[in-house]
Amino acid sequence: MQSLLDNIYQEVFPMLGQGKVADYIPALACVEPRQFGIAICDNEGNVYTVGDAEVPFSIQSISKVFNLVLAMNHYGDGLWDRVGCEPSGLPFNSLVQLEYENGIPRNPFINAGALVISDMNQSRFASPHLAVRDFVRRLSGNPEINANRIVADSEFEYRARNAATAYLMKAFNNFENEVEDVLHSYFYNCALEMSCADLARGASFLANRGYSQCAGEQILSPKQASQVNALLATSGMYNEAGSFAFQVGLPGKSGVGGGIIAMVPGRFSICVFSPALNHMGNSALGVAALTSLTKHIKWSVY
Ligand code: GLU
Repeated sequence: MQSLLDNIYQEVFPMLGQGKVADYIPALACVEPRQFGIAICDNEGNVYTVGDAEVPFSIQSISKVFNLVLAMNHYGDGLWDRVGCEPSGLPFNSLVQLEYENGIPRNPFINAGALVISDMNQSRFASPHLAVRDFVRRLSGNPEINANRIVADSEFEYRARNAATAYLMKAFNNFENEVEDVLHSYFYNCALEMSCADLARGASFLANRGYSQCAGEQILSPKQASQVNALLATSGMYNEAGSFAFQVGLPGKSGVGGGIIAMVPGRFSICVFSPALNHMGNSALGVAALTSLTKHIKWSVY
């Protein structure tokens, strides 16, 4: 496993410098772009790392996966009355489909869907952000994980589009709580900082039929774990989900902080981090590293 990681790293490292860091908020625009790390967590719980794999970074949309899993634990199949499971084919922060589809977001990984899921967690927990934070701490075995307040506050300052999305859903009665409260929780989830090693451990239950070795717990049923992987495969990579499936063939979720988690079900989870993004908003080196991975292991879910 270690030599697999080392080979991928060597192969992709020369691309460092390609892409551009997210700049929609000042707190992310100043991240050093020349970082690159990878971690793998196998189904026995062993972790392998290379490069900047222990550097904490802003997980951003990767938090949508943990947010969803926490809600699935509680709401079960009822959750799918409020959010769909179809790819959107539109930008992650688009409002267009909501208007036509009665305020029901296409899937939990576009912003509208993640906001509905955050609303559901808001109805259930006194402090939903701390519930998500404690959940990822448990899954990763790292009690030091925290949100970066500067990033969360900056997201809140530039909240207009997410606020509009949430209010539109409220107009369709698909939002129970105060929009501003839910936005706070959602932004704090996005601002969680985790390393590749934390994320590979944290997502490992998705590669292991719902069981987390690290937490020593069944997090989801095997069927639910497959469902999350199906959603990741169809909607986890913004508007690059189709070509990512075509080229890489693994369920994955990326965030604008430059992280991507991906699952090789039955074997291991992997997290790649490099902050410079391609024109679709996915980590340029992250996509290249995962392409190299499936070339080396000669395997895809398809
Ligand atoms: N915090 C971002 C937003 O809601 C999420 C960005 C991402 O897709 O990673 O706009």
